[in-house]
Amino acid sequence: MSLNRDQLLDEARSSEIWDIIVIGGGATGLGTAVDAASRGYQTLLLESHDFGKGTSGRSTKLIHGGVRYLRQGNIKMVNKALRERGRLLKNAPDLVKPLRFVIPCYKWWHKAWYGAGMRVYDALARKLSIAPSRTLSREDTIAFLPGINTDNLRGGVEYWDAQFDDTRLLVSLALTCASLGGVPLNYMRVTDFVKERGRIQGVVAVDKETGTSHSFRSRVVVNATGIFTDGLRRMDDPASKPMMQAAQGIHLVLDPSFLSTDTAVMVPDTDDGRVIFGVPWNGRILVGTTDTPRNRIDLEPLAGEDEISYLLDHASRYLAKAPRREDVLSIYAGLRPLVKAHRSKTKSMSRDHTLRVSKSSLVTITGGKWTTYRQMGEDAVNRAAKVAGLPKKSCITRELRLKTGPKDDAGSMDSSTGMDEKLHGSSSYTRADILRAVRYEMARTVEDVLARRTRMLFLDARAAIAVAPTVASIMAAELGWDQDRETREVARFNETAQQYIPSYPFS
Ligand SMILES: Cc1cc2nc3c(=O)[nH]c(=O)nc-3n(C[C@H](O)[C@H](O)[C@H](O)COP(=O)(O)OP(=O)(O)OC[C@H]3O[C@@H](n4cnc5c(N)ncnc54)[C@H](O)[C@@H]3O)c2cc1C
Repeated sequence: MSLNRDQLLDEARSSEIWDIIVIGGGATGLGTAVDAASRGYQTLLLESHDFGKGTSGRSTKLIHGGVRYLRQGNIKMVNKALRERGRLLKNAPDLVKPLRFVIPCYKWWHKAWYGAGMRVYDALARKLSIAPSRTLSREDTIAFLPGINTDNLRGGVEYWDAQFDDTRLLVSLALTCASLGGVPLNYMRVTDFVKERGRIQGVVAVDKETGTSHSFRSRVVVNATGIFTDGLRRMDDPASKPMMQAAQGIHLVLDPSFLSTDTAVMVPDTDDGRVIFGVPWNGRILVGTTDTPRNRIDLEPLAGEDEISYLLDHASRYLAKAPRREDVLSIYAGLRPLVKAHRSKTKSMSRDHTLRVSKSSLVTITGGKWTTYRQMGEDAVNRAAKVAGLPKKSCITRELRLKTGPKDDAGSMDSSTGMDEKLHGSSSYTRADILRAVRYEMARTVEDVLARRTRMLFLDARAAIAVAPTVASIMAAELGWDQDRETREVARFNETAQQYIPSYPFS
């Protein structure tokens, strides 16, 4: 199974009417499209940039119940997320893996307190529990977390959650959607709704590669655009009241000399009550995250100086070797799509998802989290099918195994052709990974390859900038770009990548 944009575009144009059009190619949109296609509904998904360019490519990479929601007493949400965690471990075993977490304890009562909390977490997971939590001695804590600050360390609490690669799971969802007859398209921006007698009958979308405008008809349209939800709702009804509040979270990426382990560290008692993780991921350590209300909605949000200082400060308290700004390999920021509540502090808002249907029948699904994307898709399709009067069909995604793409190809990726050559000394990605991303995974730009099909931009921004010309030349040969396009691609990528470098002037 593979994704070919030209073929998918032909399919999109050849259908007279779709059962469901989904707008947005993040976790929510692709989850909805997979659900709809797997029920046998004719499904088209339109993403204005690349799959995962929005919030879904910028997560902490955890499939988890959410220990902090447990602390807020949101048992229903934790329960739902733990159920979904269990399903994902079964349905995407190549991409979602169990991960050990340790909470380091520096006060004598913390072991008992957090130990009890984690036993509640175990109980909520019931038979979906990965392994029971337990308290650890000081020696065991140090053994699991080499690099942790040992001053006054009393021990720790071990618990289990799961980890994934967010944009790789999106590729898997797009492949699954296509394998079920759905059509997922990137670089298709929805610019208007088609309406008849006040009811939405489809969308107008512009192909950002050619500038061509297309009109797609549909029985129902689902708005799954995350932080852009209100913009689409206003496009439908200029009088609609805003329902979203964005909250920014940033991550610092460090090399493993700061915490050389396959165990994640969780700090539940920061200065302002946030939770901070140090997560081993693709040979690096992700430190995050923050939670700052933001009014400016941007596909490339900028980390704040205060956020960077906050994470460096906390990392210094909990790690034996304090990271400095120049040690940071990459900084990335994302905006959580939270549904407005009457409280101002975003960390105390509910992270549950919300479904709304407008007067003209636009179905909006938003909020929630990556972990619950499947449930969000199920709920959205149940409602959309009702709105459109589609024949009732049961959801099958609870048990649906997700597809992964071809691992190798066509003889051209063997060692004799240099395809297994590494792109950069600091990374395991090879030329074959670039080719695979272009041929089978619908990567269209250098940024798609370096930020989302591979994760080089997130793992080491300077290394990603260094390899951009090589990536562009491989892509040029494969996609038939002229020299001008190749040069523009590198320049455009470099401009975006600058703000992942810690020396960039942050706000
Ligand atoms: C810092 C951070 C860390 C997080 N960590 C975790 C975690 O570890 N685990 C977890 O479970 N959750 C996590 N979350 C939450 C999770 O990432 C989000 O809830 C989820 O990714 C939201 O997905 P979405 O599809 O709704 O939005 P998005 O991923 O933003 O997708 C919306 C898409 O709509 C597209 N779009 C917008 N307008 C149009 C248009 N006109 N036409 C076509 N397409 C359009 C955008 O380009 C975008 O790709 C985290 C969030 C943040 C910010």
